[in-house]
Amino acid sequence: MTVMVPSRTPALITPGRQALDSALFQLDQAAAQLGLDDGLRTMLATPRRSLTVSVPVRREDGRMDVVQGFRVQHNVSRGPAKGGIRFHPGTDIYEVTALAMWMTWKCALVGIPYGGAKGGVSVDPTALTTRELERLTRRYVNEILPLIGPEKDIPAPDVGTDEQTMAWIMDTYSVNAGYSVPGVVTGKPMTLGGSLGRAGATSRGVQIAALSALGRSPDGVTVAVQGFGKVGALAAQYLSDAGCKVVAVSDVSGAVYNANGLDVAELRANGIAAYRDADALGLDELLELDVDILVPAALEGAITLENAPRIRARLIVEGANGPTTPEADEILTDAGTTIVPDILANAGGVIVSYLEWVQNMQAYSWSANEVEVKLRDLMEGAFGEVKSTAAERGITLRQAAHVIGVGRVAEAHQMRGLYP
Ligand code: NAD
Repeated sequence: MTVMVPSRTPALITPGRQALDSALFQLDQAAAQLGLDDGLRTMLATPRRSLTVSVPVRREDGRMDVVQGFRVQHNVSRGPAKGGIRFHPGTDIYEVTALAMWMTWKCALVGIPYGGAKGGVSVDPTALTTRELERLTRRYVNEILPLIGPEKDIPAPDVGTDEQTMAWIMDTYSVNAGYSVPGVVTGKPMTLGGSLGRAGATSRGVQIAALSALGRSPDGVTVAVQGFGKVGALAAQYLSDAGCKVVAVSDVSGAVYNANGLDVAELRANGIAAYRDADALGLDELLELDVDILVPAALEGAITLENAPRIRARLIVEGANGPTTPEADEILTDAGTTIVPDILANAGGVIVSYLEWVQNMQAYSWSANEVEVKLRDLMEGAFGEVKSTAAERGITLRQAAHVIGVGRVAEAHQMRGLYP
C-alpha cells in the first residue's frame, strides 16, 4: 500500500508540507519501534476525512473575498475527532493534516477517548474587522457543518482564534440544530458552558511538564518563551509563579530581554511593545539565549537544521505543535538537550477541553480545583509513562510519546477489525 498524500514538488514545499513530513517521519519511527505492518502504517499515515472549502467573506466596503478553509479528521478509532481551528495566512491542507495527526497521538497518549482533528482558514485575522471575522467564522462553520458535532468532531481554539470564535461557532451550529448545543466546541466563554481552568490549561500543562522534566527546584531557573500568545504568555506566568526567572519573551512584533527577569504580569497587561525595563532582542536571537528552559510557543518549524547547533538551552518544552524539525531534533539529542515533545507538553489544552465536553454532556460543572486536580493527574501520569518508556527502550521522550500514542491507536484498530 502507498501513503495517499499529494506528491512533493518544490513549489509545494510550504511550512505546512514540512510539518506534515515531520509528522509522517515521527509516525514511521514509532511504527518501526512497534513493528506495525505496512497496511496499518499506511492507515495511520492517512487522514480519515479531509474537507477543503471556499469561504466567501463580505468585507466592510462591500467587496467579496474568498479564502480557503479546511477540516481534517485524521483518526476516529478511539472516539470523536477533536482539534483546534487555526486562522493564519500560512495555513494549508498539509499543515492542518499534520496538526490533526499530532492530535490523534496526543489524545491517545494522555488517555482521553478522542481521535484527532484540526481545522484552519488561510486568512490573517488581524486584517479583518470584528464583524468580518464573525461573518468569516459563521460561513466557514456552515461549510464544515456536516463534519462537526458533539459526538462526531469537536473544535477548539488554536492560533488566531479564541473564545469569541468558539461562541460564534457554538451559536451557528445551535441555530442550525434548532437548540443549544454547548458540547459542539470547547474553549467557550464560561457563560456558554465553558470550563473553569480551560483558558490557562495548555500553559498549566506546559508548567507541569517543564517542572517534571527539570527535576530540581525551579528557583532562579532561567526561561525564554517564543510566542507570547494564549499559550506562551500564561506559560511564562505560571513558570514565573513557580519561582523561575523569565528573562526573554517574543511575539511577531518583537522580543525583549532582561537578565534580571521580566515582570510577566506587566507584559501580559500592556504587551511587549510597551515594556520598558528590558533590551530589545532579535526574534531569532531569543531561541539561542543561554537559558535553562526554552519554551517555543509560536508555530511549527522554529528550531531547524540551521539554528539547532546554536541552541544553548538544556531543556526545551514544546508549547507549540511541531516547533522542532526532525533534523534539529537529532542535532539537539546528540548534544544532550532534553526535549519534552509537543504531544505531551501542550496536552493540557485538550485534557481540559475533554473535561469541558464531559461537563457539557452531563449538563454539570466542576470547581476550578476539581479541574486542576484532574489535569495534573493526567499530565503527570502521561509524563511518567513517557519517561519510563524512553528509559526502557533507550529512545527520546518524543519517540517514547509517539510509541505510546501510536501504539494505542494501532491497538484500537486491531481490536475493532476492518469493516466490511
Ligand atoms: P496565539 O495566536 O494565541 O499565539 C501565537 C503567538 O505566537 C502570537 O503571540 C504571535 O505573535 C507569536 N508568533 C508567531 N510567530 C512568531 C515568531 N516567529 N516569533 C515569535 N513569536 C511569534 O496561539 P496559541 O493558541 O497560543 O498557540 C500557539 C501554539 O500552541 C501553536 O502551535 C498551537 O497549535 C499550540 N497549541 C495551542 C493550544 C491552545 O489551547 N491554544 C493547545 C495546544 C497547542
